[in-house]
Amino acid sequence: MTLPYRTLDRTWDVIVAGGGTAGAVAGIAAARTGARVLVVEAQGSLGGTGTNAWVTPLMRNVSAGENLNRGLTDEIKARLLRQGDGARDGHGNDNWFNPEGLKFVLDDLLHESGGEVLFHTHVVAPLMDGGKVQALVVHNKGGLQALQAEAFIDATGDADLARLAGAPVTGGDEDGLHQAMSLRFTLAGVDTGRLMAFLQEHGQGQDSADFLHFWMVWGRNSSLEPLFRRAVSQGVLLERDGDYFQAFSVPGRPGELSFNCPRIRADLNDGADPWQLSAAQVDGRQAIRRLVAFCRAFLPGCEDAFLGVVAPMVGIRETRRIVGEYTLTLPDILDCARFPDSVCRNHYPVDIHSVKGGATLLHERDGEAPYFARDQYHEIPYRCLIPQGVSNLLVPGRAASSSFEAQSSIRVQQNCHTMGEAAGIAAAWAAREHGGAVGAVDVSALQAEMRARGGLV
Ligand SMILES: Cc1cc2nc3c(=O)[nH]c(=O)nc-3n(C[C@H](O)[C@H](O)[C@H](O)COP(=O)(O)OP(=O)(O)OC[C@H]3O[C@@H](n4cnc5c(N)ncnc54)[C@H](O)[C@@H]3O)c2cc1C
Repeated sequence: MTLPYRTLDRTWDVIVAGGGTAGAVAGIAAARTGARVLVVEAQGSLGGTGTNAWVTPLMRNVSAGENLNRGLTDEIKARLLRQGDGARDGHGNDNWFNPEGLKFVLDDLLHESGGEVLFHTHVVAPLMDGGKVQALVVHNKGGLQALQAEAFIDATGDADLARLAGAPVTGGDEDGLHQAMSLRFTLAGVDTGRLMAFLQEHGQGQDSADFLHFWMVWGRNSSLEPLFRRAVSQGVLLERDGDYFQAFSVPGRPGELSFNCPRIRADLNDGADPWQLSAAQVDGRQAIRRLVAFCRAFLPGCEDAFLGVVAPMVGIRETRRIVGEYTLTLPDILDCARFPDSVCRNHYPVDIHSVKGGATLLHERDGEAPYFARDQYHEIPYRCLIPQGVSNLLVPGRAASSSFEAQSSIRVQQNCHTMGEAAGIAAAWAAREHGGAVGAVDVSALQAEMRARGGLV
């Protein structure tokens, strides 16, 4: 079948498929080299999981007291703070942010750097010339259009483009099961002072009513477990609603809490399956209705609270991962492996939200010494972003080449920023100097450029 597409006359140096956590940063970084950059995004705003799936705050990635993700991550945080959409807590943690505010910051940064964006546009298929992507056929209100560039970045999170270009991909654990999805939401109109007092009484210590964080997972000694038990026995909650429950304050939104739940039904774990994704949206909304009722009835300070936001996107932790030039593994993480072509440093632990039950936050090796000493980290090589068999494509973000366990560690937002920044610069250079060939980029020059932009590599 030939697609009835129209090829646009305009061309770009770099096209980024997916303007999410990694893709928005990749677009900004590439445009700052002077490249002509287009970001193609399915939703109506940049930021992906960090904005449209409402995933906040940024997980900490600190070694020896220093945040390992710098460069554009620092600039994003500084702008969020200036706008009143970011905050630094009493421990110096500046990872708290408002997802709605982040959308504005990313718009500004992309446009100031000279990059362009095409919203409400889906990547449909690449047009290939052997192992090289020549153009992307996209779909939007203009119909099917082919957009040409020299180099491409697949930041769809699901390796959509890499897979369609013929690159090998994998996904899931040893049984092919993916991490659980979650549909995040907010509860507004909360009396956070009263809620804080209640949480303190129940052994969930809080520093301030502006930086609340509380949680309950069955069998993990949460002081809130008896409350959940009662709610299940009264039919307010289902048993599965206690598989993972967690809430955080959001800067710039007084009286509002963002929930890192509900977890979607275990049989709906493949976010790259459109039917499962649609069913997940409905399943999540039903669970949100139960959780809101629970909070209003059981948590002091929430009696008059109301549903604020239901995230437009289901939060997807893991679907497809490319099988790249190098695949990061669990031993690499446990051994704090270093690589000559490192583009990112990570100290965030293995963190698996398994649909087989519970959540694994692995801080120890074989139950003994911590694999991450306080001043340790492992590195992510550039080769993890290079898919096999496609010469002018890079894949930063949660679909980078890694095993199931390793992906659960490197997938946090700040690492996606840094991988995106590396991919953006590299793709722009590949377009300018090597006919798009990303494997020909001088990685030590890339590292030097990342350092010049404030990065730690
Ligand atoms: C529920 C949940 C909780 C999490 N908790 C935290 C946390 O507390 N802190 C933290 O730091 N990290 C957390 N993470 C991890 C982190 O948020 C994600 O791993 C990360 O944001 C993924 O970034 P990405 O750029 O790879 O993908 P995304 O940010 O998902 O970006 C992909 C983008 O591509 C677009 N797209 C997809 N397909 C197409 C297509 N075909 N055409 C055009 N556009 C397309 C999407 O609309 C999206 O904008 C969490 C993740 C989830 C799901």
